[in-house]
Amino acid sequence: MDAIDRLKFLSSQMSLEADVENRAEAHPTCFSPKEKDQAFVHPAQLPNGKNILLLKTLLSSACERDCFYCPFRAGRDFRRATFKPEEFANLFIKLNQASAAEGIFLSSGLAGGGIRTQDKLLDSADILRNKLGFRGYIHLKIMPGAEKAQVYRAMQLADRVSINLEAPNTNRLSKLAPHKVFLEELLQPLKWVDEIRKSVPAYKGWNGRWPSSVTQFVAGGADESDLELLTTTEWLHKNVRLSRAYFSAFSPIRDTPLENKAAVDPLREHRLYQASFLLRDYGFDLEELPFAGDSNLPLDSDPKLAWAQKNLLEQPVEINRAEKRELIRVPGIGPKGAEAILKARREGSLRELSNLRKLGIAIQRAAPFVLVNGKRNPQQMRMF
Ligand code: SF4
Repeated sequence: MDAIDRLKFLSSQMSLEADVENRAEAHPTCFSPKEKDQAFVHPAQLPNGKNILLLKTLLSSACERDCFYCPFRAGRDFRRATFKPEEFANLFIKLNQASAAEGIFLSSGLAGGGIRTQDKLLDSADILRNKLGFRGYIHLKIMPGAEKAQVYRAMQLADRVSINLEAPNTNRLSKLAPHKVFLEELLQPLKWVDEIRKSVPAYKGWNGRWPSSVTQFVAGGADESDLELLTTTEWLHKNVRLSRAYFSAFSPIRDTPLENKAAVDPLREHRLYQASFLLRDYGFDLEELPFAGDSNLPLDSDPKLAWAQKNLLEQPVEINRAEKRELIRVPGIGPKGAEAILKARREGSLRELSNLRKLGIAIQRAAPFVLVNGKRNPQQMRMF
């Protein structure tokens, strides 16, 4: 294969979503388990909202590990390819100069251990930044087993770093990837990222800012509950300032030990995202989420709506008096909507529900849970 064909081949190993970079990351392994044929450069939206053409690819699809869910596990009959760092960086910069790719998400299979593999990823990014002058977006994977100095170097080169926890704890990880070590290999690098952010001035980063950090889980791959996943997610938000956790519903891959395990409903992935945003952005505590008896979130209900139906129907929120933290708990009102309400209140009270529509509030969703000037919406009153 020539270099471009190899790049197409390797990037095709990464399952891509065309909408946002964040979605492109939402896969459970160092790579995606979804073997797609078409992948190269895709439109993506960065965490700052900017849209770019993102190349999401592997430096190598060779791997010495044997994670149960992964198409790239050692010994599986699968075509592999590898780039050397210099070769890869030179190829990418040509694409960049031709305006064919503006950013990169770079991962790799493990060959020769985590330290050696990490060095190759770092060398690739280092050549791009310091030899070829690339100033665009780089998302670098941290390999299991990487050293703290390597994490620091990755943070000096990248805009975002990530390491996939895959499962919420040691016990669950053993069912997915028995040779990965949850605390030392996977969680520790996320802790290092935050330690470095706290102890080293941000100007040591490549653009004067430290990168954000993210992780991802194989939802349902180890029969774990949503409560387990979200407990770990909440801990990561609070303790290592994780920007975001990604969830990817387990999907079986042929010729792997989990090939006969049933696929997980993608709606579960959606509910986990909704719940994680409630924890991260809406001031909810884990105990407030509407877990069922099996410690999972109901699939048939948006968790914010379920909470509101239990807690706000009898005690609706007065739009003209509520604080922001109360407003954002109302279905249909997000942080921007709450800010708009506060601004409108400073300019005069809101007199009726229809005033909220002009502020971008989804009033159909919000109506059952709010009072406007002490009054319920007439339609809502007919419900009681
Ligand atoms: S380390 Fe595990 S998940 Fe990553 S590529 Fe290798 S087998 Fe797949």
